[in-house]
Amino acid sequence: MKLKNSYFYTLREDARDEDSISGNLLVKAGYIKKTSAGVYMMLPLGLKVQNKIEDIIRRHMNEAGAQEVKMPALIAAEYYEDSGRMKGFGPSIFKLKDRNNKDMVLGPTHEELFAYAAKSMIKSYKNMPFNLYQFQTKYRDEPRARFGLVRVKEFVMKDAYSFDSDEKGMDISYQKMFDAYKKSFDEMGINYRIVKADTGVMGGLLSEEFQAIAELGEDTVIYCNECDYSSNQEIAKTVRAPKASKPEKLPMEEVETPGCQSIEDVAAYLKLDMADTVKALIMNVDGQLVIFFINGERELNESKVLKLLGATEIGFADDELIASSNAVAGYCGPIGLNCKVVIDEEVLEMANFCCGANKKGYHLINVNPENISYDVVGDIVNAKPGDLCPVCGRPLKFTKGIEVGNTFKLGTKYSKAMDLQYSDVDNKLQDVWMGSYGIGIGRTMAAIVEQSHDEKGIIWPDNIAPYKVIILVMSSKDETQNKVAEEIYDRLNASGVECILDDRDERPGVKFNDAELIGIPYRITVGKKAGEGIVEFKHRTAEKAEELNIDELIEKIINL
Ligand SMILES: [Zn+2]
Repeated sequence: MKLKNSYFYTLREDARDEDSISGNLLVKAGYIKKTSAGVYMMLPLGLKVQNKIEDIIRRHMNEAGAQEVKMPALIAAEYYEDSGRMKGFGPSIFKLKDRNNKDMVLGPTHEELFAYAAKSMIKSYKNMPFNLYQFQTKYRDEPRARFGLVRVKEFVMKDAYSFDSDEKGMDISYQKMFDAYKKSFDEMGINYRIVKADTGVMGGLLSEEFQAIAELGEDTVIYCNECDYSSNQEIAKTVRAPKASKPEKLPMEEVETPGCQSIEDVAAYLKLDMADTVKALIMNVDGQLVIFFINGERELNESKVLKLLGATEIGFADDELIASSNAVAGYCGPIGLNCKVVIDEEVLEMANFCCGANKKGYHLINVNPENISYDVVGDIVNAKPGDLCPVCGRPLKFTKGIEVGNTFKLGTKYSKAMDLQYSDVDNKLQDVWMGSYGIGIGRTMAAIVEQSHDEKGIIWPDNIAPYKVIILVMSSKDETQNKVAEEIYDRLNASGVECILDDRDERPGVKFNDAELIGIPYRITVGKKAGEGIVEFKHRTAEKAEELNIDELIEKIINL
């Protein structure tokens, strides 16, 4: 690409409406442009990167024996009604009507259509296994689009689906995809961890996530350095470090705590350690009032709660629901409540703790487990630093991640819903076993930039960079410099090295800044020594440039 007559621009200032490093750098460097909240254009450089990511994934998918297809994005709503997921996706699914008033959706994911396609192929056990995949635009009406390409309403996803006649076959297909994902992310140079995850709205038997390690990640990645345990926060079992010793039990007392509504206020007022308090969370679980009690330092884990109670929805209770009980918001404790009470198992290990007295303006101190009453006990809190590995008992590590890929063993959930069956050896009808596998392409691009940048701009890994080399002509009016730059450009292109020639009539400073901002791995500077056949060569992260003659340069780049 020669910049002079190309669509190419960069911004001098940071993008004002981007709330992430990657969003800002990709906008500023002219890779993407926002059209509305959570919707972006892929500009020429952005599309080049997207295509590189897709090509790597496509190669590994094909090597694993998967076949590429393309499903529509505009889908009749009945497919999602049949699978029961219209409800599961709720307001996240984009709904519309055609001119005949038929309900349609913009596909949020494609299990249903792949199952429908598989129906045409599958008659007997002899027709399996097979695996289909696509690169397709997905639509999700995110309540909070943010972080550039990380959380968006429209995005390209690579999704794949495997079809097998039994569980053993599904496990083999799953492992193939899992390995293809590892190879793909390794080749892209991403720093990631694979964690066990909740199967959530997808349903199924097993879910694993590929989490790119990044500060802005919305997911907490929990892992152990001593063994291979890893998990996301949703399902990480909480194992607390044992307490040194149990103190002697003291008599329970009611104390006045005027104006102390939060547990932090109470602890400060009574000069207590937060770890010696129990806080209440007054929730609406499937329309029913449930009050949860957990250690004051902990957070309620809603996924664990839903699983423990076999419920589907959880949110804070409104005043009306709270008024249906004798609970006093702000002063709620696990003694004498007339509604459902669930406590975290840790509360039973605590001694002489503080909690609400169910009386406005009062708390109880020196409460012990035998003083309280509850209906259900379980692990209902998030793991936190200081907790132990559930496998080997060593301290856990915590980091943030961006989910760039996921793999699911779906089992027979969708085939049952979609009536996808085959005849076995005895001519009996059986359900097909499915797996589903996704990679977010834009999110992967964002994760790479989050991991690989400096104060000057993006630093693309060689395999992902839109172009490998950028050639800067210091003086675009100098005929010799232009001639030498053109020669290098032609020779590199002829050798299959993709490069940019910055032949614009701009000051050298502008060209250097742009080259660094857009993050091209190798830079060639054609300046005053062009007449002697000498140019400068430098990697994006190198401190100093080296001088090379043109033949040495070409050979060096081809051998990289
Ligand atoms: Zn461990």
